[in-house]
Amino acid sequence: MDLGLTGRWALVCAASKGLGRGCAEALGAEGANLVITARGEATLQATAAALRQAYPGIEVRAVAGDITTPEGRAAALAACPQVDVLITNAGGPPPGDFRDWARDDWIAALDANMLTPIELIKATVDAMAERGFGRVVNITSAAVKAPNDVLGLSNGARTGLTGFVAGLARQPRLAGRNVTLNNLLPGAFDTDRLAKTLAAGAVKAGLSQDAFAERRRQGIPAQRFGTAAEFGAICAFLCSQQAGYLTGQNLLLDGGAYPGTF
Ligand code: NAD
Repeated sequence: MDLGLTGRWALVCAASKGLGRGCAEALGAEGANLVITARGEATLQATAAALRQAYPGIEVRAVAGDITTPEGRAAALAACPQVDVLITNAGGPPPGDFRDWARDDWIAALDANMLTPIELIKATVDAMAERGFGRVVNITSAAVKAPNDVLGLSNGARTGLTGFVAGLARQPRLAGRNVTLNNLLPGAFDTDRLAKTLAAGAVKAGLSQDAFAERRRQGIPAQRFGTAAEFGAICAFLCSQQAGYLTGQNLLLDGGAYPGTF
């Protein structure tokens, strides 16, 4: 199926590794030109080189910087001739106990996982509407549907973003102009972030990391962790021309881990 993405420009944030990279790979494979960002220059440039080699027909621009800062966002946006597709992403907040978090910890989480996506959306959606095509996908978390007690900063900040996007996506001046906004909610995906979470969980549970990871796998109906390539494929479909009637939704990708009917 041709997803209608050839020649479009996609800004994929936090894409040197993990789920962001999975999205960049899938969009690049569909012929979209890419602007990718991450904080670390070396890994980012290596990812950009790999993308150029894999998809020689597209242009790939790499912008090193912290996407949670105004300067980082300005540099990323300036590198993209026009943003047809916006994938928002950034590192997740640290785990912990809310009794230990001060106002600054909350502000950092809100900045990274709520206000950064909102600022990027603000900078791009009206121009998308003028052109009659736009796709926004926010990488959030399964924690939005099934909160994890140690990830209170993530639960709070991402749920705030989710509520905001639900309202914005339904504005006729966006939905009526073929601009869609959706959230992708990862469960457990095999990335560096998951490895860190598992390492912390293993210490807390008094288990080896392998034993703890196995226990976690067994708790997922699919009996495995997801891959960044699977995540990217769903993201590319949400960005396709075919997905123009799909907006304001929260798509859980978790191998069946969420136990509810809806
Ligand atoms: P990862 O650690 O594998 O990759 C994160 C990427 O983001 C890297 O490229 C890193 O350089 C970049 N990055 C981080 N902070 C950045 C910033 N401020 N500015 C620019 N780039 C930045 O992580 P991942 O597993 O791909 O997770 C992506 C998002 O999905 C995170 O917010 C994470 O909390 C969330 N998530 C992941 C899982 C999972 O199982 N992997 C589950 C739920 C939620």
